[in-house]
Amino acid sequence: MAVDLLDFDLEGLAAFCEGLGEKRFRAVQLFRWIHQKGASDFDAMSDLAKSLRTRLAGDAAIGALPVISEQASADGTVKWLFDVGGGNAVEAVFIPEDDRGTLCVSSQAGCAVGCRFCSTGHQGFSRNLRTGEIVAQLWHAEHRLRARRATAGADAGPGGAPLRMVDNVVMMGMGEPLQNYGALVPALRTMLDDHGYGLSRRRVTVSTSGVVPMIERLREDCPVALAVSLHAPDDALRDMLVPLNRKYPIAELMAACRAYLPVAPRDFVMFEYCMLDGVNDADAQARALVDLVRRERVPCKFNLIPFNPFPGSGLERSPPERVRAFQRILLDAGFVATVRRTRGDDIDAACGQLAGEVRDRTGAQARLARRRTIPLHPQNVARSLR
Ligand code: SF4
Repeated sequence: MAVDLLDFDLEGLAAFCEGLGEKRFRAVQLFRWIHQKGASDFDAMSDLAKSLRTRLAGDAAIGALPVISEQASADGTVKWLFDVGGGNAVEAVFIPEDDRGTLCVSSQAGCAVGCRFCSTGHQGFSRNLRTGEIVAQLWHAEHRLRARRATAGADAGPGGAPLRMVDNVVMMGMGEPLQNYGALVPALRTMLDDHGYGLSRRRVTVSTSGVVPMIERLREDCPVALAVSLHAPDDALRDMLVPLNRKYPIAELMAACRAYLPVAPRDFVMFEYCMLDGVNDADAQARALVDLVRRERVPCKFNLIPFNPFPGSGLERSPPERVRAFQRILLDAGFVATVRRTRGDDIDAACGQLAGEVRDRTGAQARLARRRTIPLHPQNVARSLR
């Protein structure tokens, strides 16, 4: 079976080339062809010896993922659905903004964490993606966007704005990236490598629901920007919204964040907070959030995310005035608190809608259906406020 070269960071590719009797500089050339030039045909790699190209064509491949669909929103957002085999599909979403182009990348087909407000979590877990399948999402998006710019012109974005490329990656698509750590780290290294995509550490973000031991390992192995899906100011409520909290409660999570920051490329943690009507959006909960991060001494910013309802969730989006009131309490306490702008609504590309057709092999749907019978509101919420 052909070796997928997208599975390798530069060190891995150097070891592979060494196995073929080639020097390290050949790996650098090959890496640049693949990631910087988007080549998928070894014959096009004109500065590699013909004998090496022939060998690579026989033993290796550049594992582009089959594209099931590409949808472009009127606001410039683009969503790709990739086939990862076995009836599984994952999504990547490109979100152009004034000052940057962000690609949201998936790390797993499905997700085992089962967050209450997340459509991916409701599908259950199918499997981890390989490094190559994570990198292939960026490889495809980057070179597809470049090709579009070459044909459409640099200023062909919405309203004549500059067409942006990927200069920001968030591991915030399907899956919990820190539960696929072995594949994640080489993928991050490829994103950061100057011979690869050359992204700065500040512009690569790992978003986690709170896998505490892996936050600690990431700090050692490949510190990039950190976002944490918090969604509740206390353990009682977070246990229900983010089941992983029962294993790694908030105090442990905050300690891991504190320890991460001295080596992080940004001097704050971004706390994501999905706004759920009548569940976690009360003034008292905003004040509890302020108390929590002050007590735990975690420099942070907040990103308030309007919930994207999906069938069977049993949850509603907080009204805009409630979101604004919640945000005001955080702002008045001196924190940066943004409200995520909904993007790609016309193509269902917003956060929490990264669905795809992922098989439920774990019975998660049934478990979640049972959990949905536990009312979150009002008595459980009242308990969380005590
Ligand atoms: S929010 Fe993230 S960690 Fe939670 S179920 Fe969804 S994909 Fe998994």
